[in-house]
Amino acid sequence: MSVENDEKLLEKERRMMVEDQIESRGVKGKALLTALKKIPRHLFVPADFREYAYSDQALPSYCGQTISQPYIVAIMTEMLSLDKSSKVLEIGTGTGYQTTILAELANEVYTMEIIPELHDIAKNNPVVQNYNNIKFILGDGYKGYEAAAPYDAIIVTAAPPYVPEALTNQLAPGGRMVIPVGAYEQTLYLVTKDLDDKISMKPLLWVQFVPMIKKKDL
Ligand code: SAH
Repeated sequence: MSVENDEKLLEKERRMMVEDQIESRGVKGKALLTALKKIPRHLFVPADFREYAYSDQALPSYCGQTISQPYIVAIMTEMLSLDKSSKVLEIGTGTGYQTTILAELANEVYTMEIIPELHDIAKNNPVVQNYNNIKFILGDGYKGYEAAAPYDAIIVTAAPPYVPEALTNQLAPGGRMVIPVGAYEQTLYLVTKDLDDKISMKPLLWVQFVPMIKKKDL
C-alpha cells in the first residue's frame, strides 16, 4: 500500500476512534475533538504497538512507562477548560501525545518528564516540531516548575500518593488541576483554586496511571 493510502486509512481509523469511543461517551469540546482527530497518535507509540494506536487503549511505552488512553486524555483535557490564552503545566511528558493535544488548545505548554530518555524522545518527535508553544523540562514533577508559574491549568499524568503542595501553590487563582491520586488504582480529582486562593477537590472517576516516581527511586 502507498504511504498516501496508509495515511488516509490511519486518519479514518483515528476519526472513527474519536467518534465511537470519545464523542459518543460525552466529550463535547469542539476544539478538543478536532485536535484528537488531527494528532497522529501512531507516531507517539512504539513501532510494535502501532497497529493498536486507534483502539482507544493505554499502550506500553519506552522505559517501562505507558501511553495514556485517548478517552482519558480527552476527559482530563476537557476538565481543564483551556482556551487560546491558557498557560498549562503537564507532569509526565511520556512520548508527548497529551502534550500536543494541549498545545493545540492552549497558548503555552510546559511539560515535565523525569526520565531523560523519554524527555529526549518527546522533544525529538517529528510531530512536536510543528509546535512553537511547548517547552520541555527535564525535572521532578513533585516540585512543579516554579520558573513559569502560576499556571491556569495543571494536568498530572502519573499518580502520586498525595497532591504535591508545589503544584497547588503554582496554580493561578481561578486555576484548575486534574490529578490521579492513590496507589494501584487511583481517584482522578479536579482540584480548583478560587480567587481567594481557597483549594477544593472533587473526585471524578477511577483511573489507572503509572506511579509518579520519586527522584531517589530512579
Ligand atoms: N502524558 C503521557 C503519559 C505518560 S505516562 C501520555 O500522553 O501518554 C507518565 C509519565 O510520567 C512517564 O513518562 C513517567 O516517566 C513520568 N513521570 C513519573 N514520575 C514523574 C515525576 N516525578 N516527574 C515528572 N514525570 C514523571
